[in-house]
Amino acid sequence: MNWVTEPERKTPVVGEVDLLVCGGGFAGVAAAVCAARLGAKVMLLEKYGFLGGLVTSALVITTPPLDNGINLEIGGRLKERGVYVPCRHSGEESEWLNMHAVDPEFVKYEFIHMLQESGVDFLFHVYIVGTIMDGRRIKGVVMESKAGRQAVLARMVVDATGDADIAAFAGAPFRLLKKPVTMMFNMTGVDIPRVLAEMGNWGNLRRVVKEAIDKGDLPFDLGIEREFGSPGVHAEKLVYDGEINVWSGNLMGMDGTDPRDLTQAEVITREHAIRLARFLKENIPGFEKSRIEMTSTQAGVRATRQIMGMASPSGEEVQKKIFADTAVKPYAYRPMRLPYGSILPQKVENLLVAGRCLSAEEEILGQLRLIPVCSATGQTAGTAAALALQQGKAPRELKVERVQEALQAQGMDLEL
Ligand SMILES: Cc1cc2nc3c(=O)[nH]c(=O)nc-3n(C[C@H](O)[C@H](O)[C@H](O)COP(=O)(O)OP(=O)(O)OC[C@H]3O[C@@H](n4cnc5c(N)ncnc54)[C@H](O)[C@@H]3O)c2cc1C
Repeated sequence: MNWVTEPERKTPVVGEVDLLVCGGGFAGVAAAVCAARLGAKVMLLEKYGFLGGLVTSALVITTPPLDNGINLEIGGRLKERGVYVPCRHSGEESEWLNMHAVDPEFVKYEFIHMLQESGVDFLFHVYIVGTIMDGRRIKGVVMESKAGRQAVLARMVVDATGDADIAAFAGAPFRLLKKPVTMMFNMTGVDIPRVLAEMGNWGNLRRVVKEAIDKGDLPFDLGIEREFGSPGVHAEKLVYDGEINVWSGNLMGMDGTDPRDLTQAEVITREHAIRLARFLKENIPGFEKSRIEMTSTQAGVRATRQIMGMASPSGEEVQKKIFADTAVKPYAYRPMRLPYGSILPQKVENLLVAGRCLSAEEEILGQLRLIPVCSATGQTAGTAAALALQQGKAPRELKVERVQEALQAQGMDLEL
């Protein structure tokens, strides 16, 4: 590879805070709100012009119940607006997940209000590109925007970027996963009763789509791995009548931290989305008047960097609840417990992670990436960060009982 050397330069410092939360998805918003409510001066940085992360940018709009801790509050706010409802499934569909649908527009809206109400300062349209280190401590981050390069200094940092960007910049160990990339899109104008009368259930519709791909009637010839997750639809009732959420197919083997791979993924999954929508409209009774309402802002990347944390639980450990130091009991589709150490990176003292880049064995990460788990780890990271700041300690020096007490005081049921 060819390299250039950039000249040394001075970077303006535009903020100095107690806690810097990097990323405004479910994990980041939960972390920022919970830390601010405990009195910390918090700033949140987000590269998009809205909050919600993959839920709003990748149209991942179905979640297991939001029914514990800050999830209960988020679910309650959305329910009050009529935009958090149980999904309806038919036939062989995955009822056991007890999925609920949300309207992403109201997630964006409510999250802004939650930050404002709890006194969190936040900046949109800033891309964090590096950390400023002092030995094993992060002194601040460097971000880029229309204003050029700027820095924010902080005593403590929560990495809620989903991709462990901050942990990686700071030199914390991680491993890189390549999980399927998928573009989600919503279609409206679908006569759902008619589709079900013809197809029986969405599983049968998926089979028809797969057969069409295999026969060449619906060409999916741009690199898709057909064996794993052909495109389809998975719930017949979301928030609004006549609307469905479709996935374009899973693209395998992409590195979600590499712009080349990401560009290829956007091109291929968008092509798939358009072809699939056309196929449904032209071939499936009930889709005649359908159209794509919106595609996602970005193709959905499930996982990239996972930190190697102070703890890295296996699936069995998470489900058998054997940790002495359990600090999170996220309600996904079944109760699971995470050790506090799974959100503490190695080698960097004043950093916690929250959300889908936490530390665990690969076998269980699929479940630990579910939306309510991300916000639950955000709540724990924000709470622990605020306590560590109050006590002048590193997060790993905290007594986990104090973190548990603080979480319970916020209404999180840890079932201890
Ligand atoms: C296709 C797909 C389907 C899924 N299906 C489901 C499902 O049905 N149910 C379910 O519960 N879960 C599902 N998931 C998983 C779930 O959506 C995610 O794991 C979860 O939303 C992640 O939340 P997070 O806050 O940890 O990270 P993210 O949502 O990724 O949020 C990270 C935030 O940080 C910002 N950011 C990142 N890097 C930077 C940077 N350098 N500078 C500034 N900002 C930055 C991003 O813009 C984003 O807002 C699915 C995921 C995908 C991709």
